[in-house]
Amino acid sequence: MSHIVAIVGRPNVGKSTLFNRLIQRREAIVDSVSGVTRDRNYGKSEWNGKAFSVIDTGGYVRGSDDIFEGEIRKQVELAIDEADVILFVVDVEEGITPMDEEVAKLLRKVTKPVLLGVNKVDNAMREKDAIEFYNLGLGDYTTFASTSGSGTGELLDNLVAAF
Ligand code: GDP
Ligand code: MG
Repeated sequence: MSHIVAIVGRPNVGKSTLFNRLIQRREAIVDSVSGVTRDRNYGKSEWNGKAFSVIDTGGYVRGSDDIFEGEIRKQVELAIDEADVILFVVDVEEGITPMDEEVAKLLRKVTKPVLLGVNKVDNAMREKDAIEFYNLGLGDYTTFASTSGSGTGELLDNLVAAF
């Protein structure tokens, strides 16, 4: 059985962009409008000879806050059930939002490995900005940029190390 990685996080942090990069296929639907990914996507990936499956969550989440609360909770709970490793993606451009704090609260209770990934770290300035994510109470994080692929090698190293 292959290992399963679930990518969770609020809309627009770049989950689907990362998913597409990891599976090397344009499968998830990415849009600049929050919550546009239409489905829960499954793909296969491999790093350093280790094969694993990736789940891109966020399916039917829409922009509206009240719908969001319940939906994100469902997605995170599904991910916790299904996955061996949970990759929680946040966005350095926006910083910590109340929704990030909600997700972090759920993930702090999980006994499975949880990796915190700070996306949109496109330059050195943003590397410094990422420090605030220690406040989520999930320990250390990995910074990367899904669009350029910068830092995704280290992210993958940390992912497969968690299996
Ligand atoms: P999702 O809702 O979490 O799946 O996020 P998407 O993958 O759909 O991306 C949301 C937006 O963030 C899109 O406009 C992406 O191009 C943008 N984005 C994703 N990764 C990066 C990144 O590394 N840097 C920057 N600047 N933008 C990014
Ligand atoms: Mg998406």
